[in-house]
Amino acid sequence: MSEKYLAQPDLDFIHEVIGLGGDTLKKCFQCATCSVACPIAPENSPFPRKEMIAASWGLKDKLIGNADIWLCHECGDCTTLCPRGAAPGDVMGAIRSIAISEYAQPKVLAKAVNDRSQLPKLIAVPAIWLALMAFITVFMGDFMAKIFNVFGVHWYHGDHGGEVIAHANFISSWLVDATFVPLLTASLVVFALGLKRFVSDIHENAVLNGKTDKAELNFKELVMSTIRVIPTILLHKKFNECGENNSRATSHMMLLYGFVGCAIVTGIFFVVLYIFGIPGPYSQLNPVKWLGNVSGILIILGATLLIKDRMAKKSETSTFKDWYLLALVAGLGITGLLSEMTRLGGAKYLTYLVYYIHLIFVFNLFAFLPFSKMAHFVYRTVALGYAEYANRK
Ligand code: SF4
Ligand code: SF4
Repeated sequence: MSEKYLAQPDLDFIHEVIGLGGDTLKKCFQCATCSVACPIAPENSPFPRKEMIAASWGLKDKLIGNADIWLCHECGDCTTLCPRGAAPGDVMGAIRSIAISEYAQPKVLAKAVNDRSQLPKLIAVPAIWLALMAFITVFMGDFMAKIFNVFGVHWYHGDHGGEVIAHANFISSWLVDATFVPLLTASLVVFALGLKRFVSDIHENAVLNGKTDKAELNFKELVMSTIRVIPTILLHKKFNECGENNSRATSHMMLLYGFVGCAIVTGIFFVVLYIFGIPGPYSQLNPVKWLGNVSGILIILGATLLIKDRMAKKSETSTFKDWYLLALVAGLGITGLLSEMTRLGGAKYLTYLVYYIHLIFVFNLFAFLPFSKMAHFVYRTVALGYAEYANRK
């Protein structure tokens, strides 16, 4: 048996769970109503009662490598029915936050994203960096052109036929891409390293606890199982099985489709610009433009509904990490759409300002993706794929 599953109570972990919204942890008297009430818990070793017990004992290692914490959709059905007024759904959410911080490296960034006092730094770093990029673009254009010409590369100013293309002119697309491509690449590497450990841990946990009969992990089969659960995720089928908060499934789907749409638009824009040499912005009649606009509206609507829902549910614990994510998502959508509207309205300097703020949000999204609550999209997808692979229905 692996040493990591020998019980070693971790008091710091208990305090962390309590601080991240699991403050009702100690109310639990282990009646198991929650596990019976949960509409999506498997029959074999159901959650969340066993997680409540493990968390109150401080069994951190047993919990963060447990795929079941990711099968929970935090719908709150169990919380509503708990006879002790505990909130197992919130405890599961707190454990997931700690798991995200454990699998993402460096840990200092994970801590910063969950720490309210660090918020000014999370904003100041991209604000200063992007201001520097804007300064270089606006005041050092000729100098940069000479440097780029040395390497035979055309310095892109985004000024076409006399029309000032606000967003491209303000911060050259070269500097924007030179910032965001490495950032996104770094985030993907952090995710890849975290997922490698995550998959190995959840498999070891499943074998030890009899949740799978597959002793050896077959990565190819796991990938195929993960692909098979994608329709379930896209339609939020599991979320729709919940009773208490299944209206959230609609807002979650809006965000999911909004982000997928924006990713497709960004990918197309990138390829068309760098491979075919055609810069934006596109005509309003272009289907890519339509996809971008609809995606932006979906993000704003989804975020608004989720914020409204959280404000209405006083019984649920909303922590800094929840509000950080909601503000980030809403800010991305609103500033993205506003920068387009102000540009179309000819308000050049207002467009500069709004687009600058939009880029600060994008920087936060890309840089802190593996460290924030947003990472749940990746871990939950893999955990659902693993449940399919392990025949844990
Ligand atoms: S969290 Fe509530 S419902 Fe679940 S085992 Fe504890 S007391 Fe029972
Ligand atoms: S919050 Fe919902 S999905 Fe999560 S354990 Fe409770 S009932 Fe199940």
